Formats: sequence, C-alpha cells, structure tokens
Amino acid sequence: MNQQHRELIDRDRKVTFHASTHLRDFAHGDAPGRVITGGKGIHIRDKDGREFIDGFAGLYCVNIGYGRTEVAEAIYQQALELSYYHTYVGHSNEPQIALSEKILALAGPGMSKVYYGLGGSDANETQLKIVRYYNNVRGLPQKKKVISRSRGYHGSGLATGSLTGLKAFHDQFDLPMAGILHTEAPFYYQRAAELEGMSEREFSQHCAERLEAMILAEGPDTVAAFIGEPVLGTGGIVPPPEGYWAAIQAVLAKYDVLLIADEVVCGFGRIGADFGSHFYGIEPDLITVAKGLTSAYQPLSGVIVGDRVWSVLEQGTAEYGPIGHGWTYSGHALGCAAALANLAIIEREGLTANAAETGAYLQRQMRSAFGDHPIVGNVRGVGMLAALEFSVNPEQREDFDPALKVGARIAAAALDENLIARAMPQGDILGFAPPLVATREEVDEIVARARRAVDRVT
Ligand code: PLP
Repeated sequence: MNQQHRELIDRDRKVTFHASTHLRDFAHGDAPGRVITGGKGIHIRDKDGREFIDGFAGLYCVNIGYGRTEVAEAIYQQALELSYYHTYVGHSNEPQIALSEKILALAGPGMSKVYYGLGGSDANETQLKIVRYYNNVRGLPQKKKVISRSRGYHGSGLATGSLTGLKAFHDQFDLPMAGILHTEAPFYYQRAAELEGMSEREFSQHCAERLEAMILAEGPDTVAAFIGEPVLGTGGIVPPPEGYWAAIQAVLAKYDVLLIADEVVCGFGRIGADFGSHFYGIEPDLITVAKGLTSAYQPLSGVIVGDRVWSVLEQGTAEYGPIGHGWTYSGHALGCAAALANLAIIEREGLTANAAETGAYLQRQMRSAFGDHPIVGNVRGVGMLAALEFSVNPEQREDFDPALKVGARIAAAALDENLIARAMPQGDILGFAPPLVATREEVDEIVARARRAVDRVT
C-alpha cells in the first residue's frame, strides 16, 4: 500500500464511524481499510491504483456499472435547472412525474402511486406507517402486527431493523420491537437434513403452514401485513423453493393480510425480470424499491402503493386531513433525474434480458466450478444473484465451526485475487451480484478468481 493511501486511511480511522465494522479494531488500526477512488464498468480502483472486479456491484446496486457519463450528465443538467424543491402539499418536479409514470408502467396493473425516499430502510419505514394508517382508517385499530421472516433483510433502523431477521441487527439494540414477528425462512438447503425427505414443494407448504399457525396463534384480527424479499438477499441469497410464493399468498389472502414485496435487490432487472414479483408470480399490495432504481448514482427509494391500499389512504385523508408523513428529500429532483437516466440505460442496453441470459450462464459456470467441490455444500442463485455455501461435509450438509470464519477467509482470499465477493453476515456464505452489464467473459473471470480463492482456503 502506498504512503498516500496509508495516510488517508489513518485520517479516516480518526474521524469516521463505519457501517458494519469492528469499531475498535478499525479505530486502532487492527482492521483493514481501503479508499476507493474510481470505477469503470464492473471494475473499481483503490488509492493504490489497484483494480478489482466488483462482483457484488457495491451492495448489489450498481447495476449499470460504474462511470456512466450519461447519468452524470443527467444529474448535472438537472442541478443547473432545479437542484431541489420540496414535494410537500402537491409540489412536484418534472423528473419526479416522469419517473412515477415509468415505475408504474414497469410495475404493471394494480399499482397506483409512488412515494419516494432515499434508501431501502426509510422506504420500509414508510411501508410500516402505511400499513398502520390503512387499518386505522378501516376501523381495525388492533390489526397492526407485521410478520417478516428469519434471515429477511429490510433495513437497519429501529422498525426496519426489527423486520430484518438477522441476529447481529438485533443484539444490543433491544430489537425486534413489539408487534414485529418472524416466521420460518424458506431455506430448503439448511433445513433439508431435518425434513426427512420432504420435497421442495412440500417444504413450501410447510412454510405456509407455519405462517398460518403464527397468524392463528396471534389472532388474524391482529395481523396486518407480511413482508418478504422475492429472493432472500442479505440473509444468504436464497431463491424460494418451488411453489413458495403461491402457498404464502393463499394464506395471506385467507386472513386479509397485506403483502409487501421488498424489491430493493430484485427490482429493475437483477434476476432477469423487471421485478422479482413478476418472476415468481407474486401479487403484492405494496412494493419497496431502491438500489437498482438509480444504480446508486443518487440515493433514491420508492414505495409503490397498490390500488387496494391507495383507495383507503385517499379515504383516510378525506376523513382526517393531509397525511402526516413526509421526508425533506422525498422526490428529490437529482435522484429522480438519475433514476430516469439509469432506467433508460437498462432499457436501451437490454440489461434485464442480459441478467436473464448472462445470469443463466453465471449459474451454470458456478455449478460447474463448484458443484462437487469438497467444501462447497450448496451452489444457488437466480439471474445475477449467486451464492456458495461452504460446508465441512457437503454430503451431510454439516456447517463449519463459525469460529473458523471460513466465509470471511474466502472473501479475503478473493480480494487477494482482486475479486470482490461478499461474505454474507450469517453463515459461511459467499455472495455474488455482479453489475448487470457483465459479459460472459467477465463472468468467466469472476468464477475463475472465485475458484482460486476457495481452493486457497480449502
Ligand atoms: N431491503 C432490502 C431487501 C435490502 O437488501 C436492503 C439493503 O441491503 C434494504 C431493504 C435497506 O436498504 P438501505 O440500506 O438502502 O437502507
């Protein structure tokens, strides 16, 4: 590492509180730092000039790749024209209007309006408020509980961190908050050993029965909503078992429980469809989007409200006056301009189709490189989302001792190969989510580097 880079990191250690970081080790120089200075396509570069393949598109968000001048220019032009004006009490800006039209056209029938935020966490916070408001207006004030899933990821605020079903996001924060519950994760691979030969489809039915049992135990008149990612993301990159969403939706319909599809990762092409909901035949009442909406060129998220909920919100304001919800930066003109330019690129370059086609290639190459690897228990994924789950004994699906930190060590070995892949926060799982612009040749390179990294730790 060169002198300049070291000095920058030392300055950073003194002043910055980093996300998901061992604070003491970082502050005292016992954990590594890195300053990223540039990016182009699927590559990023650090202060040493060292180049990495970003196999995780930042945090599965830089879908159109780095360094797209078209988006930069759209932001610049919008900043010259109108950088910001609030969107309270009916004020708007032109990119916001065009973007809402575009999002609703992509989302398809049944979706009514879009409310904007800055990131996935605040968008899910909005979802929780909508759900409460909805049932208060309907005269069902006791119907407020929200069911999420173990290993779900929905943000890291107080309420959204409660929705998240990962231990590290709860411990020491006194979470989850009351009224937020977690049902079983649809994680067939991890449960298979205990399931005594249950097929995937039977396991889906079992998950739906567990959900129904929870709703009945709590009282259906107290359960307002269910939230889930079409594909479990941060909890381990787990595509749903066959028949899962149909089985879950049947239960929700039976008990008048709203369905929130958290499309923060899947939305805008990542798994080869405009939305994960389209891919799996999910018919949500509410949709959360962020990440791929702007490919992270600006922070922007959205809550897409379906007709059924919207009509109640309208009715509520007819009774109670203007809705008591709003962020200063909702519908920020620069975010909306960036999103429009990003979505135009996705459409023009056919990136959703590329995520389907090159994504299928990624899945095949991963399976051929790791399918019978001695420490890989499961290779899974869909589109441009993939994961390797490590196992000390793949036949028995036996996990490594967590103290060995196998996943983190393999992610570090990948970094030595100049490949960024993500050690997922729970379990020995290495995640991949390359930008949707990745070519077959780039996929080959990702898989080859990953294979060298895994072999190095084996
Ligand atoms: N929902 C999902 C599915 C996510 O993956 C994330 C972040 O990774 C969030 C919500 C939270 O988004 P943010 O980190 O932008 O608040």
